Amino acid sequence: MTAYETEPGRLFIGGRWREAADGARTDVVDPSRGAVVTTVAEAGPADVDAAVRAARQAYDDGAWSGLSGRERGRILHRVAELIRANADELAALESLDVGKPITLCRAVDVTNAANDYEHCAALAHSLHGAQRDTPLNALAYTRREPLGVVAAITPFNFPLILAGSKIGPALAAGNTVVHKPADETPLSALYMARLLTEAGVPDGVVNVVTGTGPVAGEALLRHPGVDKIAFTGSTAVGRHAASVAGEALKPVTMELGGNAAHLVFADADLEKTVGAVIKAFVFNTGQFCMGGPRLLVARPVHDTLLSILADAVPGVPVGDPRRPETVVGPMAGEKHLKKVEEHVELARKEGGRIVCGGERLDLDGGYYYRPTVIAGLPNDSRVVQEEIFGPVLTVQPFDSEDEAVALANSTPYGLASGIQTRDLARAHRVAGRLKAGIVWINDWAMLDPAVPFGGVKDSGFGREYGPEALAAYTQVKSVVVSLD
Ligand code: NAD
Repeated sequence: MTAYETEPGRLFIGGRWREAADGARTDVVDPSRGAVVTTVAEAGPADVDAAVRAARQAYDDGAWSGLSGRERGRILHRVAELIRANADELAALESLDVGKPITLCRAVDVTNAANDYEHCAALAHSLHGAQRDTPLNALAYTRREPLGVVAAITPFNFPLILAGSKIGPALAAGNTVVHKPADETPLSALYMARLLTEAGVPDGVVNVVTGTGPVAGEALLRHPGVDKIAFTGSTAVGRHAASVAGEALKPVTMELGGNAAHLVFADADLEKTVGAVIKAFVFNTGQFCMGGPRLLVARPVHDTLLSILADAVPGVPVGDPRRPETVVGPMAGEKHLKKVEEHVELARKEGGRIVCGGERLDLDGGYYYRPTVIAGLPNDSRVVQEEIFGPVLTVQPFDSEDEAVALANSTPYGLASGIQTRDLARAHRVAGRLKAGIVWINDWAMLDPAVPFGGVKDSGFGREYGPEALAAYTQVKSVVVSLD
């Protein structure tokens, strides 16, 4: 660990690093060893208030919102370049903080974050209103204006990407931001504050308050100086955040939990399917809102696929996230590991058969769990219906396309979904019937900043990525000029 990786561990408000007003600090734990690696400031309501005021002042003085889209885009482009130039440090930091395999951090987290800022730079260039034809004797046009101060609240599992997917479009549109990263994974947010400043983002435009959800998050949610809430996290906290925002009539984007179904039809290419199935449930150690933990398999290939998985899954490299060959690292924290353990115990009680895994892996005091496959659970079991958020796959057979769709749509969630089939007509037909914000066909987790994602039902509303994300950080003003 170099000092640069964790320092300064203070709040970033109005372009300055500062301790919390009451001096509170909290530990940051390396999940691969269960050991404290550093501490960061823990913001209280007074700090959140200072951050929102700084963001408001920066918004009102026009140093950012007054720039042209092209000028903002140029700076966002520089952010992308700086992320790439600092890829090794950022990847190491994200791996240390979350326990993600270093190879994944480089290939996915850092790469996607840079691509996203680059994409947002292009969106900033293309931000424009429209002229509207009207029978009025008038020139009518719309302007796309920023919303003001955005509160960005992010979860523990993809800290860098999910902060960027809010800060990028918010800045592209001319807003200012107060970012509260997840309690347990705050490090890349602090590092990014440096890079944003280095790229030319003016003081106060992005502020970072590290701290807990119930204190710092709640203060940010309720702050009257916030104009929009961009939230990614659990459905339970999102429901609460949306109700607070509703009371204050503030616009929100809600990216919430998931429990995606992965449908394998009898005509699927099974060799390719196995790779996609394993990726879908072990990616990011299963701590992936868009992961595929529910495998639905056409009965004629159910037993074959299950036995291939029983052979293949134990061979997935689990271990020290610093090793380049590691595919599955530890869970990000002890409470996440316990949740997985409890659900696998529950699966045993609910009549599930553990095909492989089903236990912790004792390694260096870290929070490891072996990738686990469970067959034979009824569809209404809690383990099938709830979001477990760990490397656990349940497998269920189906007998018809209608049954597959009904099972897929049977949980409260609707974030992602996937289909394995060689039948093109079926692929498109079923994609249209699945209640999900994104459907992958013949692979999993194909994500790109140009392609929007987001949820339906209890997985939330609003979209990140794509031009849809920019729209969520702007409001339309109409101007009508009399020609009389
Ligand atoms: P979480 O809901 O516990 O926390 C998310 C954020 O909300 C954190 O920053 C937390 O500190 C904050 N928070 C907690 N209580 C708060 C309160 N009272 N007021 C304001 N903020 C508060 O979620 P998590 O455990 O960090 O993340 C995992 C969850 O996030 C999973 O459910 C996962 O599916 C979901 N997720 C969704 C997406 C998506 O795009 N839909 C992406 C990643 C994760």
